This record gives sequence, structure tokens and C-alpha cells, in this order.
Amino acid sequence: MQMTETKIRINLKAVRTRAGLSLSQAAELTGVSKAMLGQIERGESSPTLATLWKLAKGFHLPLTAFIEDLVQTTGIFTPARPDPVRFQGSIGFHTIFPFDPVFGSETFLMTLDPGQTHVSNPHDAGVVEDVFVTRGEIEVLLDGNWKVFRCGDGIRFPADQPHGYRNMTDDPAQFHNTMHYPRTALFEEISDGS
Ligand code: MN
Repeated sequence: MQMTETKIRINLKAVRTRAGLSLSQAAELTGVSKAMLGQIERGESSPTLATLWKLAKGFHLPLTAFIEDLVQTTGIFTPARPDPVRFQGSIGFHTIFPFDPVFGSETFLMTLDPGQTHVSNPHDAGVVEDVFVTRGEIEVLLDGNWKVFRCGDGIRFPADQPHGYRNMTDDPAQFHNTMHYPRTALFEEISDGS
């Protein structure tokens, strides 16, 4: 967690500086308050997963841009397997494949405790998500309806609308979550390594 917080702090400042934005301007862009942005950058506050997604959407960047180092895959790539991160009050989470600008995707492993719900704001236009259940049973919220998916089931859906995941069973559940992003100007910058 500590390592992740350090990465977030460094990455947020780098992204904001590269975009040439003050804290106030970044607050306006992302919907995260100026005070909170300052606290995150100074390492005084650890953001929730929902806050991180607001940052990603505001800057039109993948989540990886804030929590990991970007990776360009040119051959076989075996990511490290870190301990799941627990952002404040959110679902267990770790990165399997960081964002790759060639493929335009990133993959996370999510863990939902019994009874746990995570509702996500719409992502940028054109973002598509894959959910593949690897343990237990989850429900996915789409078009206002919760639908059951069991271990081995998958679903791909447009994620530029409200959506969510919940575990209504008595056992932990896990799923892979791949985000597919359309190309944007900032992606080109990332691809150039600048
Ligand atoms: Mn989502």
C-alpha cells in the first residue's frame, strides 16, 4: 500500500505538471477537490479507488498512469504478483497487466468480499470493459439491472455508462477486469515516452 501511495503521489504530480495545470485547474478537470489533490501529492492522504478513477477520467488516462509504471510489451511479459491493494473502503484490487499503449488496455484482479458492492461512474466515451469471473459468483450492474455471473463466465460491455459489481453470496469472489481504451492525444504522448 505504501509503495502504491508513493507511486500515486509521484504520478499525479507528473501528470498534472505535464498537462501544465495548477491544483485548482486540475480540481476543475477531475472533480477532485483542490485540497484533496494537494493532500495526495504531499502524501498526506490516500485516495479511494473512486477518486483514482475520477483522476483517470479527468486526465483521459488509464488507471495505470496513476498507480503503476507504464509498460510496453514487445515480447513475453510476466508481471509481478503483488499483494492485493486495499484502497480505503473499496474492493481488493491489484494490477495484472499495466496499461500498454500498443494494445490500449490494462487488466486488474478484483476481489469482492461477501456483501460488498462497488459502483463505478461512467468512464470516458468509447471505453469498453471485460469482466471474467475467476472465483465465486458476482453480479454486474448494466442498464440498471444486476445480472449474475459465475466462475468461468465473462461479459464485455460499454463502460461509458454507470456500471457496478457486487457479491451477494457468503463467499469471496474474484474477477479479472480488463479496460480497453480508445486512442487519445495523451495516449500518443505516453507511447512516445514523453
Ligand atoms: Mn469501471
